[in-house]
Amino acid sequence: MTIARPAAERFWPHVDKEGPVHPVLGTPCWLWAGHRDKRGYGQFNVGKRKLRLAHRVAWELTNGPIPDGLFACHHCDNPPCVRPDHLFPGTNGDNINDAIRKGRYHSHWSKGMRSPNAQLTETQVASIKRRLLDGEMGIDIAADACVSKALISNINTGRLWGDVAPAPAAYVNREPEPDPACLAEQEGDDA
Ligand SMILES: [Zn+2]
Repeated sequence: MTIARPAAERFWPHVDKEGPVHPVLGTPCWLWAGHRDKRGYGQFNVGKRKLRLAHRVAWELTNGPIPDGLFACHHCDNPPCVRPDHLFPGTNGDNINDAIRKGRYHSHWSKGMRSPNAQLTETQVASIKRRLLDGEMGIDIAADACVSKALISNINTGRLWGDVAPAPAAYVNREPEPDPACLAEQEGDDA
């Protein structure tokens, strides 16, 4: 379907181009700042009260109509993202295959890498972000949280947990109780 020009002009001002940086694609998602449906997909009013999926509109505004029967699929697995180069036209099967290839079913990066193997909770990440903002050294924070310095650095750059906001200073525990198992391992290293 072709999109009328006035609609196109209204579209991009609703897009926040500073979303989380995708760890594999290496570029930030562009998030739909308007209304979203229950699944998180953006909804754009193309006129006459007709709503269309925002990511689909974004792809079409950039590349032309999506062939009949195909979906606009997300490389980044982030439903509100409307960045055209994070999207590709495909069948529902393509979408699922792409998801499996990227391991969507194992680590859901768009929700902040909350995989079953995630080393940190969202609350810990929020504290870490506050400490980084306050200028504390990554190496000290890593030691307190008992994680690698590389992980702290990825949080600092937004490569991981890009959607978690820093905690208010008052909520930050600056001398957290480290996990005893982790400490035992560290002591083992020193021996
Ligand atoms: Zn994206």
